[in-house]
Amino acid sequence: MTEVDRLLAGNESYVSGTRARPDNAEPARRLAVLTCMDTRIDPLAALGLGVGEAHVLRNAGGRVTDDVLRSLALSVHVLGVRTVVVMQHTRCGLAHVTNDDLHVRTGANIDFYPIADHAVALRDDVNKLTASEVLNPIGEVAGMLYDVQTGEVKLQLRWRQDV
Ligand SMILES: [Zn+2]
Repeated sequence: MTEVDRLLAGNESYVSGTRARPDNAEPARRLAVLTCMDTRIDPLAALGLGVGEAHVLRNAGGRVTDDVLRSLALSVHVLGVRTVVVMQHTRCGLAHVTNDDLHVRTGANIDFYPIADHAVALRDDVNKLTASEVLNPIGEVAGMLYDVQTGEVKLQLRWRQDV
């Protein structure tokens, strides 16, 4: 049995279960959460959210990249999102490494958006969102740090405007 076989078996259980399957593609909380791909984070559970309530975007580090802007432009302008949360986390694999390290380890000569300091990275990412023409108008943006040991989320910064 391969991993793909296990996934298909898992889906059989999922289909026969009684989970909610919302019919509306628009996030009920008008919310999008960007976070890291780290396996220790369950973004819906960590923030008290359910299926159907928020867009969840994930990448290495939970960083605002061009592709995140692409997705959020659709969240905001097509699917009614008004609040965006960037949630980075403690013990992130992108923290305290450099692009040079990662170029050597991966062989890929690209920007990995490493994080020297979460306060700075979150501020930069929130600024990138609020300055982006493709997201305007957006109501509220927040930067948060998730503690992978305690599960606690700390608000690092927030930005608001009336829309
Ligand atoms: Zn991470």
